[in-house]
Amino acid sequence: MFKKGSKLYSIFTGSCPKCHEESMFKNKNPYILSEALSMNETCSNCGTKYKIEPSFFYGAMYVSYAVGIAFAVAAFVISFVILKASIDIVFISIVGTLIVFMPIIMRLSRNIWINFFMHYDKTLAKKKLN
Ligand SMILES: [Zn+2]
Repeated sequence: MFKKGSKLYSIFTGSCPKCHEESMFKNKNPYILSEALSMNETCSNCGTKYKIEPSFFYGAMYVSYAVGIAFAVAAFVISFVILKASIDIVFISIVGTLIVFMPIIMRLSRNIWINFFMHYDKTLAKKKLN
């Protein structure tokens, strides 16, 4: 399921949505906050331009809403259902989860967003620009 060629691979590794050969992000670690959202302009393997149009990644905000809810629900289930914490602790754990995972949520949203518009292409994966 997480093999190269599946959308999930690109989404969870942040790799180029067309060739899956290279990371879209300049720094692989999302917790270097100053570089959390700095992306390469094009893929150095296949030449794909990531920003299809100006402010393309604003659309990722809609996705980040859904991804944020998913994290919040997970935090709720773990703290309330599994650990049986009080409602105050549950609230704190949800807010804490959203803050701690913010860089990951932002990147996941961008990866999901760009994968709506671009699809894996076998021929590009083999092609090397230089
Ligand atoms: Zn590529």
